[in-house]
Amino acid sequence: MPKAIFIDTTRCTACRGCQVACKEWKNFPAVPTKQRGTHQNPPDLTHYNFKLVRFSEHLEGDVVQWYFFPDQCRHCLEPPCKEASTVDGAIIRDDATGAVIYTEKSSKEDLETVRSACPYNIPRQDPVTKRLVKCDMCIDRVRANLLPMCVKSCAMGAMNFGNREDMLKLAGERLEAVKKEFPKASLLNQDDVSVIYLVADLPAKYHEFAVAGVSGSMTRKQMLARIFAPVRKIGQQVRG
Ligand code: SF4
Ligand code: SF4
Repeated sequence: MPKAIFIDTTRCTACRGCQVACKEWKNFPAVPTKQRGTHQNPPDLTHYNFKLVRFSEHLEGDVVQWYFFPDQCRHCLEPPCKEASTVDGAIIRDDATGAVIYTEKSSKEDLETVRSACPYNIPRQDPVTKRLVKCDMCIDRVRANLLPMCVKSCAMGAMNFGNREDMLKLAGERLEAVKKEFPKASLLNQDDVSVIYLVADLPAKYHEFAVAGVSGSMTRKQMLARIFAPVRKIGQQVRG
């Protein structure tokens, strides 16, 4: 039965437990980074970070809103990266779960061809093996009836995993609950992907590639004004 992950960003506290748990399960090393004046670290997905909790701020009136977005491969139902693939067997979709998996043969792929096909800017490349890499839904764990590590690690209930049908039902219920306080709340691309996000505000405010082709960057004037503004985490008030 197809599986899905439901990511309820209204419950996310940006603890980054999912990000670290992913690295630990994959046995990826820590990589030195610089403090860039943001909670988001590292700056982007890498071949050692298949999961990244994105952090952005936007000024609404005189209040700064915080937006948290645990970014990862969406495991598309009809993956554009697979359609762009030029190497047989390099990118496969697991029939049982719907997980999109990059195999060792992906080292023969052209990164830019595959990456530019992805609406969410996900694929990365291992600089040593040249293999293309990204989240594989912890397929080893899922086949052993275990939760993906990111889901297992989330103490807030932001990460959920199960049969697609059940996840869609849960996502719909949470959307209804959240909409009472946040009328702009929506589910992102739920008919096209196996990783379904609930956001409380416009998707572009969370991440440029939350939905393809929309930019959510902050203006310079807004950036300066935020320094003096009170802070509110979007969606955090909603429980149910
Ligand atoms: Fe491929 Fe991108 Fe879809 Fe993941 S999100 S399956 S990398 S197209
Ligand atoms: Fe958010 Fe849960 Fe990940 Fe923590 S573990 S950053 S609460 S999704």
